[in-house]
Amino acid sequence: MRPNSLHAADLAHMVHQQTDLDAHGREGAVLIARGEGVHVFDTEGKEYIEAMAGLWCASLGFSEKRLAEVAYRQLLTLPYYHTFFQKGHEPSVRLAERLAAIAPAGLNHALFQCSGSEANDAAIKLAWYYHNVTGRPAKKKIIGRIRGYHGNTVATASLSGQPHMQADFDLPLTDRFLHVSNPNYYRFGQSGETEEQFSARMAAELEALIEREGGDTIAAFFAEPVQGGGGAITPPRGYFDLIQPILKKHDILFVADEVICGFGRTGHYWGCETYGIRPDMLSCAKQLTASYQPLSALLISDPIHAALIEGSRRNGSFGHGYTYGGHPVACAVALETLKIYEERDIVGHVRRVSPAFLDGLGALGEHPLVGDVRGVGLIAGVELVADKATKEPFPPAAKAGLLVQEKCHEAGLIVRAIGDRIAFTPPLIITAEEIAEMCARFRAGLDAAWAVLRERRTL
Ligand code: PMP
Repeated sequence: MRPNSLHAADLAHMVHQQTDLDAHGREGAVLIARGEGVHVFDTEGKEYIEAMAGLWCASLGFSEKRLAEVAYRQLLTLPYYHTFFQKGHEPSVRLAERLAAIAPAGLNHALFQCSGSEANDAAIKLAWYYHNVTGRPAKKKIIGRIRGYHGNTVATASLSGQPHMQADFDLPLTDRFLHVSNPNYYRFGQSGETEEQFSARMAAELEALIEREGGDTIAAFFAEPVQGGGGAITPPRGYFDLIQPILKKHDILFVADEVICGFGRTGHYWGCETYGIRPDMLSCAKQLTASYQPLSALLISDPIHAALIEGSRRNGSFGHGYTYGGHPVACAVALETLKIYEERDIVGHVRRVSPAFLDGLGALGEHPLVGDVRGVGLIAGVELVADKATKEPFPPAAKAGLLVQEKCHEAGLIVRAIGDRIAFTPPLIITAEEIAEMCARFRAGLDAAWAVLRERRTL
């Protein structure tokens, strides 16, 4: 434990989120004090390359002054207003207009909240609302995927396929949430099965589930174009092409969770573009404001919007909303973020540096600890294995992922271990030189972890 008073106060009073609180009680936390470009510095002055952009989100790094200035100006002009009761303000209107212009075809309307969880929670509510208003009230079940992540509200944690976020929380809340398999070809592809055959098997499983449950009972299917919290898992070839017709056939809404993928992460503006997804709703957050303000948007299709109007006629109003949904300061920051993306051609930049990123990490596929490296754009996952030839994983007790994460931290690199998958989503502004340094530090972290694991094995 670090002795200074900030760390003592942290241990005494602060409840950390998504944290092993037992380990935290023994070891304390790394407290980050400031940022510069893709680097952050802790309270002891140690410098790190932030290869996770915080939580897959600080797309413009940690020192973009234009966003601070625009927030300050908006705070002086109109620091708060809401969008309830036929009131509103310019920043949210202009942002909705801008999002409609850049969204995948047909998503012309934006509903604002503060977080990705709230956007997906709203998408669940709207799926039910839409089917009720359009006369299909039996459509209630929502399909997610094992290890998918859509948020931490009662409903979105139920939809997410992350058992440790449900255990002891009395979740999932109802039996309305169903899950299909995780489409991780490296881990779950069968011997001799091609990637395309694996996708076909995943699609057949989805169709069998729908037929078993009855398509008329299913409201929506949620998917992240690239699964983030599940381990940075890119979809196997053909996956989304095969599942979309099945959903269409059964009149099941497709909700694309672009909370991580949106705004250039995959080398297109949307993950939906990268994978040919035509969603009925799209949730986005994080990179919407480069994370300088909390904001999310749920983009919805014309038919769903029409149902909200029809529902208002029926019920007196659209009875949904949050005090801070569409906060003017957050919306002003989002508008400036989108302007910066355009001016700096951030999507083009991602495509230009992506080969250095994917090849640099790919070269570490030779490392004895690494079984698989997969990625697209500026998101990648590196899967650690005990045996490269057989793909045998490490026993969970070895905590190999956490060990690599810790050794990377020591080498000045912040990455995230998701089990034994190491995730990378650096700020979108990262340069080729910084990527080379990131890979060098990762190699140092892997080597240090490998030395520990080898020593343990020989003991
Ligand atoms: N969906 C996805 C794909 C996410 O990765 C996350 C957060 N990591 C969320 C939803 C939830 O967003 P938030 O933490 O802002 O509620």
